[in-house]
Amino acid sequence: SLQTAIVGLPNVGKSTLFNAIVQNGKAASANFPFCTIEPNSGIVTVPDDRLQVLAEISKSKDIVPTTFEFVDVAGLVKGASNGEGLGNQFLGNIRTTDAIVQVIRAFDDDDVIHVSGRVSSVDDADIINLELALADLGQIEKRLDKLKKGKKSKEEQEKNEMEAAALTRIQQALEAGKAARTVELDKEELMLIKSLGLITLKPMIYAANVPEDDLADKGANNPYVQALRARAAEEGLEVAIVSAKVESELMELPKEEAQEWLEALGVKDGGLANLIRATYAALGLRTYFTTGEKETRAWTICSGMTAPQAAGTIHSDFEKGFIRAETIAYDDFVKVKGYSAAKEAGMLRSEGKEYVVQEGDVLLFRFNV
Ligand code: GDP
Repeated sequence: SLQTAIVGLPNVGKSTLFNAIVQNGKAASANFPFCTIEPNSGIVTVPDDRLQVLAEISKSKDIVPTTFEFVDVAGLVKGASNGEGLGNQFLGNIRTTDAIVQVIRAFDDDDVIHVSGRVSSVDDADIINLELALADLGQIEKRLDKLKKGKKSKEEQEKNEMEAAALTRIQQALEAGKAARTVELDKEELMLIKSLGLITLKPMIYAANVPEDDLADKGANNPYVQALRARAAEEGLEVAIVSAKVESELMELPKEEAQEWLEALGVKDGGLANLIRATYAALGLRTYFTTGEKETRAWTICSGMTAPQAAGTIHSDFEKGFIRAETIAYDDFVKVKGYSAAKEAGMLRSEGKEYVVQEGDVLLFRFNV
């Protein structure tokens, strides 16, 4: 499954947030017995109000949301790219993930030491981003050296030159303080450099860890959040507002008390649901649904996937034996209230192998086994 790394300086609230994530996942993991869960990883379900609506229409017995995995990558400190702390090992762990959530401290608390002696959301982000960029620069240098060496066929030579040119452009961006993701790369170039696992090429969002009282207005009056938002806007990145403390303490409270507390704070939750949704969106993921009496279920695909590829996320046999997909948009399905009415109204489309699945499509696959 897709993995998202949680990174950030020490004492910003990563473990606290991560524990909440693990608890959240435990509740859901009964549905996912096939997932092996590592000690530093937790499965989250992606909240989606549409599931409930579809399940009611189809009178489904079960609702199965889609999921992804968070991995806690503790230990990123200043100098990590030089092997400071457990630097290299941790950076290696980030390289294999698909996206990054960078937790930023946006709360004051004299009892919680800040590694630099004072809280500054932008300085903190700079420290982490610099380490990530240095790690990428190291990778690129090594790769560029390797590309120059050895005898190759003409075809290989051309490929290598294309890769080297792309890496050099990324190198220049990194040296100018920009992330690799800001460099325009075409599909072929992306394929060539994929195996390097460049960290700053991965989608990233900031999670501002705010005091509980700043949840309701999404940190609008919190100077750390304001500064971070300004920085993120320059970088084209999202800031999700979360209270790690609220999320972790909610888990300990009986349901009623938890509800009362949230009402007093004027929010629905501690921001985790939104962080999950924002991460899902940053990953460029799309959701399609299957729905019937047995279950209503959300499935994750990448944007641009065709109907057979989408079918393959359920089972590889579905992809191989794909014939067609009975298709209807979520809104239409809800409007006419179900398959049979949709068919009668002529709203159920029969889509073939070339069809690109759209966000919110409700699909029924026809296939040969
Ligand atoms: P990590 O080093 O980034 O994993 O940080 P931790 O999750 O271990 O948190 C460090 C300390 O900050 C712990 O004592 C937490 O209880 C505390 N902490 C985490 N989030 C908050 C918060 O939102 N507000 C306050 N006041 N303390 C927090």
